[in-house]
Parts: sequence; structure tokens; C-alpha cells
Amino acid sequence: MSDELLIIEDNEQNFYMMRFLLEKNGFSVVGANNGRQGIEMALSLRPQAILLDIQLPEMDGYAVAAELKKHEEIAGTPIIAVTSYAMVGDRERILAAGATGYIEKPIDPETFVAQIAEHLEKSRGVEEQ
Ligand code: MN
Repeated sequence: MSDELLIIEDNEQNFYMMRFLLEKNGFSVVGANNGRQGIEMALSLRPQAILLDIQLPEMDGYAVAAELKKHEEIAGTPIIAVTSYAMVGDRERILAAGATGYIEKPIDPETFVAQIAEHLEKSRGVEEQ
């Protein structure tokens, strides 16, 4: 597994903001702007975690999460949904589809990296049990 984080996000501004914050804090970041490309990159790069937008063209984040889970070699990769869908039902729906965590948009530049780091820490803890 690489140290890279894969961001699947179709909004350029959101992508650049997340990448900027993460790279500033020592993460390396790769990006895909649609679900198909994101799945291909996840399979070939085996990122440390996947940040997944829900509102994507053609294949939405629910479908992407479900598809990622079908591939055994990356089924254990943490998927952090990053979405403006703030309603409880949507949150449950993306977790049911395979996401392991959830961050709300608009992202808070003050806390975003800490949220990601905390999530990675938690996923690591789960693996070790
Ligand atoms: Mn989007």
C-alpha cells in the first residue's frame, strides 16, 4: 500500500483545496475527476485511503464505494466520503455503500487535515485488532 491519498472529486476548486491542505501537511495526493477513473487508480495505485465525493457525473459516490468494495485487493482501503449531503439518511447510505467515514463540505481548512489524520489512525487501529 502506498502513502498516497486518492481524491475522487469532480469540482476542481474542492480538489485543489484538499490537495493543497494535505500536501502542506506532508501527504502525497493523486486525483481523479470521475468514478471510473478513480476506481482504476485505486486498483493500480493502492492508495492509503480514498477521499470520495458523492455528487459525481455518471457514476455517483455510492456506486463508486460499492464498486471499490467488490475488489478484494482494495476492499480494506479506508474510504472517506466528502460531501455536502448533510442529512442523516445520506450519511447512513454512504456508510452502508462502503465508506468508512464521512467529512462534510464545505471543508474547514482549520480542521480538515486533522480529520483525515484521525480517520487514518482509526482505520489503522482497526487493522491491528
Ligand atoms: Mn461533486
